[in-house]
Amino acid sequence: MRSIQIEVDPLECRFCRRPLEQRRWWAPKRFCNGWHRLKYRVCQVVAFVLD
Ligand SMILES: [Zn+2]
Repeated sequence: MRSIQIEVDPLECRFCRRPLEQRRWWAPKRFCNGWHRLKYRVCQVVAFVLD
């Protein structure tokens, strides 16, 4: 018997590595807040430019 199981991976903030509590599995959080998301994007752009 197969049961549908939704696995929620314990994601951590991509910027500060803090574990995030996932309350919405359909929209998992990757950052603590918008500020960390912005910083992460900036770091990506900088890395892309330098590469
Ligand atoms: Zn963070």
